[in-house]
Amino acid sequence: MPEPHPVLPETLSQIRQIPASDRPLVVCDVDEVILHLIRPMEAYFADLGLVFMQRVYKLTGNIARRGENVPIAADEVRRHIHTFFDAFVHAQEVVQGAPQALRQLARNMDIILLTNLPGTHNRAARETLLKSADIDYPMITNSGPKGGAVAALSAGRQSPIVFIDDSTVNQASVHASLPTAKLIQFIADDSFRTAHLPADHIDLLSGDWAETTAFIEAIMAQSARDRD
Ligand SMILES: [Mg+2]
Repeated sequence: MPEPHPVLPETLSQIRQIPASDRPLVVCDVDEVILHLIRPMEAYFADLGLVFMQRVYKLTGNIARRGENVPIAADEVRRHIHTFFDAFVHAQEVVQGAPQALRQLARNMDIILLTNLPGTHNRAARETLLKSADIDYPMITNSGPKGGAVAALSAGRQSPIVFIDDSTVNQASVHASLPTAKLIQFIADDSFRTAHLPADHIDLLSGDWAETTAFIEAIMAQSARDRD
């Protein structure tokens, strides 16, 4: 099992501003879970003459110039991702059913959004976009693997703690830092999800908010039975 990742100081200071609560918690990622990312990113890359080499869930080492079979350098990928976010963070489309699902879950659980957002000026744009879609929950910005942040957010709360994220790295990090967390790997893009083989610690692989909501409500019901 990988080493747990510590929470970054700038993430922890945001977590400390969230009022203490003993309610169960859904920690929910934004990109590819609440807002589409792969779809607009693929279109953005295509305009630059760049393509995904394989339908696998990774950027570095997997982006090439069209017609070439050599991945572009990691720092070039990083630069494109930053430019993409600066240009598109205002206009990402909401994943179908996400606002309704979160509203339903929020009746019995706290919802906290935990997003790794490149660029410095993008947080306000993202908050404005989410609020316009009726998604209004505390948002914490992080960088790097999310395990330490999720463990810190879980302090003092009843089970279950549910983590929803598309990233295999973040899922493994949360599994290492908080093994009791229920892990939902949500990948909105059909072709990337279909090509993905989830790790053994993943409790549900989904791209459907109705399925995800039903799964979390079943976990809530089981936790209530376990407490009785
Ligand atoms: Mg994501």
